Amino acid sequence: MKRVLITGAAGFLGSHLCDRFIEEGYRVVGMDNLITGNIENLEHLFPLEEFEFYNHDVSNHVHVSGDLDYILHFASPASPIDYLKIPIQTLKVSSLGTHNLLGLAKAKSAKILVASTSEVYGDPLVHPQSEDYWGNVNPIGPRGVYDEAKRFQEAITMAYHNFHKLEVAIVRIFNTYGPRMRLNDGRVLPAFIGQALRGEDLTVFGDGSQTRSFCYVVDLVEGIYRLLMSDYAQPVNIGNPDEITILEFAEEIIKLTGTQQKITFKDLPKDDPMQRQPDITKARELLGWEPKVSRAEGLKITYEYFKSLSEKALYKKEHNDFSKYIRK
Ligand code: UDP
Repeated sequence: MKRVLITGAAGFLGSHLCDRFIEEGYRVVGMDNLITGNIENLEHLFPLEEFEFYNHDVSNHVHVSGDLDYILHFASPASPIDYLKIPIQTLKVSSLGTHNLLGLAKAKSAKILVASTSEVYGDPLVHPQSEDYWGNVNPIGPRGVYDEAKRFQEAITMAYHNFHKLEVAIVRIFNTYGPRMRLNDGRVLPAFIGQALRGEDLTVFGDGSQTRSFCYVVDLVEGIYRLLMSDYAQPVNIGNPDEITILEFAEEIIKLTGTQQKITFKDLPKDDPMQRQPDITKARELLGWEPKVSRAEGLKITYEYFKSLSEKALYKKEHNDFSKYIRK
């Protein structure tokens, strides 16, 4: 059985990746420091013999005993609100953390895939964004801690590939949604659905003319899996090109949830990108991949998930204590 290490395993994407690799017949080692991850996302995997979990911050030296075939580095706060709250950890996990995991990959002769982001394009002046665009990032703005750490992550990953001949893959992930997002993580989809469920107005930042393109998580995981199995080492965009303004998105959520609440407008956060849409030509040509789930389908499933959460979860701020499952 092949063995894969997934960092950020208790997070939204990490936990879906753990599921996928278990389904594919791998032994999965999950790692997370549970700052933004939620151990409940992994609860169903704890009884499995093929699954292990370590509570560890990968910004510190990472030790895993035994062989590893693949490493997927998905540990990082991923919401603007989170990386504003914990800016230093955000910088460290994609810089020091990536360095540690590249070292581990080298020691184990494992292939590593790192989670990069559409944020490397910053507030893009080229639209849609293709991989050869270098981006428009403010290094000292509030989002700089995430954007620049991810840009450094790409640079050090390519350096290990070129200098040490390490097998690498770099996925540039665009806005993704689905079950297991945190209702209170501040991102637009859980924010709007949470507001609708709690009977609050939906908060649109700015005039809502900024655009995003939302990819359903199952499509994203398929793209990541195919990229890992390919021998392509350069960055590849994975996202859904179906672009929408945030105001139209709020109207879609109002329709979906049937809420009687209205839209209220708030200040646009500093450096909020005005437009974002992936050019997925590369993914189509290299991986034969494109998204399959429409926003209407994906939003329906995601809304059902959020509705199924308890009243307590709807208002809760802290994670449950699952410490008995965690190996120190
Ligand atoms: N946004 C909004 N209302 C909210 C949360 C976010 O209008 O309650 C906007 C935000 O300003 C941005 C877009 O929705 O233009 C997507 O924000 P998100 O934090 O989900 O991710 P980003 O793509 O900015 O990293």
